[in-house]
Amino acid sequence: MEFIDITVGIRNDMLVWPGDEPAKIGWESRIAEGAISNVSSIQIGAHVGTHIDMPLHFFDGAPNLDSLDLSVFIGQVTVVEVPEEKSRIDATFLDSLSLVNVTRLLFKTSNSKLWNDSSHSFHPDYVAVEPGAAQWLVEHGCKLVGIDYLSIAPFNDSVTPHEILLSNNVVILETLDLRDAQPGEYQLICLPLKLESREAAPARAILMKTS
Ligand SMILES: [Zn+2]
Repeated sequence: MEFIDITVGIRNDMLVWPGDEPAKIGWESRIAEGAISNVSSIQIGAHVGTHIDMPLHFFDGAPNLDSLDLSVFIGQVTVVEVPEEKSRIDATFLDSLSLVNVTRLLFKTSNSKLWNDSSHSFHPDYVAVEPGAAQWLVEHGCKLVGIDYLSIAPFNDSVTPHEILLSNNVVILETLDLRDAQPGEYQLICLPLKLESREAAPARAILMKTS
């Protein structure tokens, strides 16, 4: 059985959304400084690194992590390769794929190559899901959609695709590293931190190839 880690590592100088606080990872105590043990401290935004968005992210009073349906995060997933020349994921492209199973979809785009340089500065022209494609996903019964950059939505329209997906209880998985994932079928295992009543949480996400 093969496991592919599709999680982006968390560290101090990691890429965060423009304007968000940088991650602060430090030491509370160190053996080298006379303490009896090494203990780290972590201070990160809930949307830093690989994470999930719940409906509360864009809608007050909407479901938060407390009502997370864990069955959505474990199960068959399709990794879809978006051709290099495509700068947006639109409904026409999704139609052209003739997908059999759309319950869980992860889009592997040219964004993934940006992770070759984990210290790259924010790239606003990343490939993302257009509103029409978000609507398509809802209409085709998608429960979880993921992408290999910091947002599912284009930088110049970061609200609409989120609203379409989240108002229809489609969970969003952002900031994936899909460099090592070939397009195809996998089992997804993705478990977000149990941040009570919150709108988002960092997650460890892996793909499992059974054959
Ligand atoms: Zn987010």
